[in-house]
Amino acid sequence: TVPGELKWAASPSEGGWEEVSIMDEKNIPIRTYQVCNVLQPNQNNWLRTDWIPRSGAQRVYVEVKFTLRDCNSLPGVTGTCKETFNLYYHESNEDRENFIKESSFIKVDTVAADESFTQVDVGDRIMKLNTEVRDVKVTNRKGFYLAFQDVGACIALVSVRVFYKTCPLTIRNLATFPDTVTGADTSSLVEVRGSCVDQSEEREEPKMYCGADGEWLVPIGGCLCNAGYEEKGTCSAGFYKSGSSDAGCSKCPPHSYSLREGATVCDCHSGYFRADSDPPSMACSQPPSAPQQLISVVNETSVLLEWSPPRWLGGRSDLSYSLENRSTSQPDAQHVASGSQLCQPCSSDVLFSPDQTGLRGTRVVVSELRAHTHYTFIVQARNGVSQGGSAGAAQTVSVSVTTNQAAPSRVSSVQATDVTRHTLSLSWQQPDQPNGVILEYEVKFYEKRERSYRIMRTFSRNAEITGLNPLTVYVFHVRARTAAGYGEFSTPFEFATNSGTQISTVACFAGSHPFPLIGEGVNSAFLLLSVSGVGILLLISAAVLIISRRYARAHKRTRHTSRRTFTFENFTIIITGVKIYVDPFTYEDPDQAIHEFAKEIDVSCIHIERVIGMGEFGEVCSGRLRLHGKREVYVAIKSLKAGYSDKQRRDFLSEASIMGQFDHPNIIRLEGVVTRCKPLMIVTEYMENGSLDAFLRKHDGQFTVIQLVGMLRGIASGMKYLSDMSYVHRDLAARNILVNSNLVCKVSDFGLSRVLEDDPEAAYTTRIPIRWTAPEAIAYRKFTTASDVWSYGIVMWEVISYGERPYWDMNNQDVIKAIEEGYRLPAPMDCPVVLHQLMLDCWERDRAERPTFSQILNMLDKLIRNPGTLPCPEVCVSVLPEVCVSKWSLCEWLQSIGLERYTETLAAGGYSSLDNLLALTHQ
Ligand code: AMP
Repeated sequence: TVPGELKWAASPSEGGWEEVSIMDEKNIPIRTYQVCNVLQPNQNNWLRTDWIPRSGAQRVYVEVKFTLRDCNSLPGVTGTCKETFNLYYHESNEDRENFIKESSFIKVDTVAADESFTQVDVGDRIMKLNTEVRDVKVTNRKGFYLAFQDVGACIALVSVRVFYKTCPLTIRNLATFPDTVTGADTSSLVEVRGSCVDQSEEREEPKMYCGADGEWLVPIGGCLCNAGYEEKGTCSAGFYKSGSSDAGCSKCPPHSYSLREGATVCDCHSGYFRADSDPPSMACSQPPSAPQQLISVVNETSVLLEWSPPRWLGGRSDLSYSLENRSTSQPDAQHVASGSQLCQPCSSDVLFSPDQTGLRGTRVVVSELRAHTHYTFIVQARNGVSQGGSAGAAQTVSVSVTTNQAAPSRVSSVQATDVTRHTLSLSWQQPDQPNGVILEYEVKFYEKRERSYRIMRTFSRNAEITGLNPLTVYVFHVRARTAAGYGEFSTPFEFATNSGTQISTVACFAGSHPFPLIGEGVNSAFLLLSVSGVGILLLISAAVLIISRRYARAHKRTRHTSRRTFTFENFTIIITGVKIYVDPFTYEDPDQAIHEFAKEIDVSCIHIERVIGMGEFGEVCSGRLRLHGKREVYVAIKSLKAGYSDKQRRDFLSEASIMGQFDHPNIIRLEGVVTRCKPLMIVTEYMENGSLDAFLRKHDGQFTVIQLVGMLRGIASGMKYLSDMSYVHRDLAARNILVNSNLVCKVSDFGLSRVLEDDPEAAYTTRIPIRWTAPEAIAYRKFTTASDVWSYGIVMWEVISYGERPYWDMNNQDVIKAIEEGYRLPAPMDCPVVLHQLMLDCWERDRAERPTFSQILNMLDKLIRNPGTLPCPEVCVSVLPEVCVSKWSLCEWLQSIGLERYTETLAAGGYSSLDNLLALTHQ
């Protein structure tokens, strides 16, 4: 299309390629280069284009349009005629005119015609045009030349088009990718980073690849429209978009609007609000209306407030309530009378339960208010759009109350000063809230291990306690009284009297002399003892001395006991001569207790044979004991392992001191102790079959019910003896029962009472054997004979189930919960109903309802005497032994197993006696 001449360089400049103008098919003149030296051999005609600037291209495409004559159609041509030409290129940084140096050109390809023609008659338009495209990598210089070599063809170049490819500018995923020149190689990809379009931000770096043929490939990442914009453009009025996202603009939520375009959030209509934490998509809302129907119930100095939820919740669900209280001080008569100053209590003194603010419920108890005071309580309903600070009347409801009179609060900080052998001075602080004039204080005190107590009353904040026992721990509670009555007792404070010398703190105080009184629950005999304690003691001693020398030891114990407790029961006990167990821990010197209750054995009399078990303090061995003038007996020997502390020694020997006080065929017998040489030993009778639980497991199913009941009877008998002695075992379990070769069961292990402090305030102790212990003993340490009865019921279950673990593998917490909810162990397999009923009686929640050991013993005795009342366990496997058949009617038998309701059914089926019941088959 060049007007005028192209003037490409040709070599040779004459007779080779020639520039010829011809008319194209539209009759427009075009330039061509032609050569047609087909008759001369060795043609080498070069035609070179002008210098072509590369313009950043890396691979260029050359499209050549040409015509070529068929050699055969040319008359007279010999082998010199060719039908191809060669395409060359040469890279160069500059345009060097007329430069053709053949050797510097690199061949691209030999080009042949797809179509050749036999005649040239341009005028008739029969010329056949060939189009060939070749590509070449041009990366080294700023530009290049192309060259066409003719080697003897008849050829006309009609058009030469040189181009390169780009991936065109495009927008993908809201990112713009520029027009990009393809890579140098046919397989190369050019990585291109896009840039986010206006009003959008990068979600993930946008990227694409430009392929060699100009196609974009593999778009990655992209951008998101900014808040207020969507792909279509800006959000229109009434719509909003709060953040950059793929999503389009949304309609404004209820009670909100947007007037301008591109809103990121909608504004609330007047009277409606949005909390800071509310999302823009949430409807605008309002504060709630006031709570309704507020009622108050005054109870002394507490007020119960209850109300109903507001009528209008404001379109939200985060409703809560808060309370405010305003007090109008009304001088109470007693304050005025006493002339005391009226102080406003800090509002923090008032207790709101469950809370003062952020309440979800509609009920609050306000306590610790001042007595005789006028209060106004304001309950406010709040939600996320309520204003901070005091609420407007629209959201509140209020009620005014006047508190009643109230008892004083607890006395605190009880202190002991001037402690002597028999006296102790106490002082304490006035209650934080006297709620009136304190008329007097009451001091209640008792020995730590006793039930009976004494009470003193005093006007002052101190008291002189006299008539105490030396070296004894006492528990003191103090409470105040006003016209409104007594306040609560203080928490217990424990103080011990000393052995004679003064040891205590220095504070001296003057105060009115307290006057001792007798507490409730102590009868007149106590008064008698209190008044003439010393005389009575002498009388007791004399009486006991008279009884006999046999009672000499008992005398010491009982005297000690009576001195400890001062109760009427003990007074009776002495007169009747019944023995009472003495706690060895009440002895100042443990050795004194051990030698009072246990015989010292010469170690040379003991012959140890083998180890039979492990105790808490060391090994348990069996052996023989030959005491002077007595026959040799088998014994068990417990020893205290070396390296023990004073406390361990005392604890170890205390078991012997306890055991030594007992003398009963079902209590393990103490032979004596070795304390004068080491190791320390406790020697008891030997029980050949070891502990009951292991023994039963070893002999599972091998005993008759009568034999098992016999074992239980022995244990009940031992326990009755202990309870008669006022001894509470606390750890009655099959593992603590020993069995001898005659299947006699004896209660042993008098250790647990040592390890449990008798402090009712102490927290739950993990050493309590939960599965065997009565609920009241677990809950508040109430260990009594009745709690031993509970444990006895568990032992019954263990025995009948041959040593099964009570409550199997339930954990302790679940056991406590189950018992609390009324669950009781079911009857073990083959257990007669009467025995299970007895167990259930032992497990009565109310301990007063449980049978005594005496009743249990009577019942078991009756069963043993009259075995017919016990169904034979074999009936459960549907074989009735003869004894049952001969003694029982069918009706009796059904009754004894609790199935009497089937009597009629069986009778209707023709079964009226045990004899014909034996014929019953599975069918
Ligand atoms: P204890 O410290 O009493 O629990 O004793 C530990 C173990 O020693 C027991 O479980 C029995 O197996 C065994 N044992 C204790 N005392 C005797 C005894 N008098 N006769 C036979 N075995 C005993």
